[in-house]
Amino acid sequence: MTESITNEQAFERARAVLPGGVNSPVRAFGSVGGAPRSFVSARGPYVTDVEGREYVDLVGSWGPAILGHAHPAVIAAVQDAAARGLGFGASTPGETELAELVIDRVGTRYLEKLRLVSTGTEATMTAIRLARGATGRDLLVKFAGHYHGHSDGLLAEGGSGLATLAIPGSAGVPAPIAAQTIVIGYNDLDAVRELFAERGHEIAAVIVEAAPANMGVVAPAPGFNRDLTEIAHNHGALVILDEVLTGFRVSPSGWLGLDGDYSPDLVTYGKVIGGGLPLAALGGRAAVMDLLAPLGPVYQAGTLSGNPVAVAAGLTTLKNADAAVYSHLDATAATLSSAVSAALSAEGVDHSIQRAGNLFSIAFRSTAPTNYAEVKQQDAFRYAPFFHSMLSAGVSLPPSVYEAWFVSAAHDAAALDRILDALPAAAAAAASA
Ligand code: PMP
Repeated sequence: MTESITNEQAFERARAVLPGGVNSPVRAFGSVGGAPRSFVSARGPYVTDVEGREYVDLVGSWGPAILGHAHPAVIAAVQDAAARGLGFGASTPGETELAELVIDRVGTRYLEKLRLVSTGTEATMTAIRLARGATGRDLLVKFAGHYHGHSDGLLAEGGSGLATLAIPGSAGVPAPIAAQTIVIGYNDLDAVRELFAERGHEIAAVIVEAAPANMGVVAPAPGFNRDLTEIAHNHGALVILDEVLTGFRVSPSGWLGLDGDYSPDLVTYGKVIGGGLPLAALGGRAAVMDLLAPLGPVYQAGTLSGNPVAVAAGLTTLKNADAAVYSHLDATAATLSSAVSAALSAEGVDHSIQRAGNLFSIAFRSTAPTNYAEVKQQDAFRYAPFFHSMLSAGVSLPPSVYEAWFVSAAHDAAALDRILDALPAAAAAAASA
């Protein structure tokens, strides 16, 4: 199928027909340089490129691959569902079962009803429309460096690819739409209070990453999510907790399972909930969720929403993500992040390891950044040589310092050893950058 094509050739061919050679910007290696690897298969903790080279994978499809790639139970469920038809554009028992499972895992304190969509972008977009419909207000508050997908109102000072490529926003967003989003600094409750004191009556919702991981990982200060929710609620605004990345990854019930001493009004999910296929969701209490069509006046729809093959992947992934999986992820993240830190320290490289649950990333600065402004004040140029040294040693890291590293249940001792063995040379490369 792929006789002796190189990654460079694959990229060149792609660039002729795909803008930038990719279908999502960060994949283009924009900040680390070189030809992105073109992958043909993945199994467990490994991915294999067109040249037949195998890498230990710490991208995990950007989050979904919590059980490792091509988990046999997930593949069997997907094959079984596919054999029964790829989609009906109608209701299925599976989508109800998935909603029941998610509500059961997260708890009815937070979720009574769920709507399934296909991407995290759709989930946040719909949550915002719902918040506006529920409050009759227009303004949205987001935090600098947080990423919530690529819909018009959410690209101002976004993380992820916008951070990687240093893009402050997006062309093509009409000014009146951009003006409906107010961006403030993260972890800054004074800024939140000030803004709400001034414009609280106009604010429909605050959207916040449950634990930000799209400007590198930056954990919320203790009590931040709780106090933010209290301030918003005191002004009649809703809180949209974005768990697209953290949901079902950092604990069996997501970030809410770690710090849920507050009640967001809407929660968004993606990535793990779809087990690697296009599926995402938003949920909340019935009073808000029932404002969605067909019951209520807020419209949202999708040809592929609740697709049965994606539902089968998501259901099987969640059913197999048991307590043992989460302790393995936590232990693996702890081992790996301390090894990275030790290797960088041995080379005298200023760094802090940013952790939120089992998510982590490096910041090349001596103190831990708490917001986007601080995140940008780091020796980001050290990441490219670090990344390429790891890649040539057979370890595939996220191609940007502003992305989290994703471990999986399949990262066993052999995979870990390969990463640990590669670290000293990568740290040396970072030091000499
Ligand atoms: N919210 C968060 C927190 C995310 O990390 C992402 C994707 N990385 C999204 C929303 C958007 O999801 P999608 O790429 O599926 O549209």
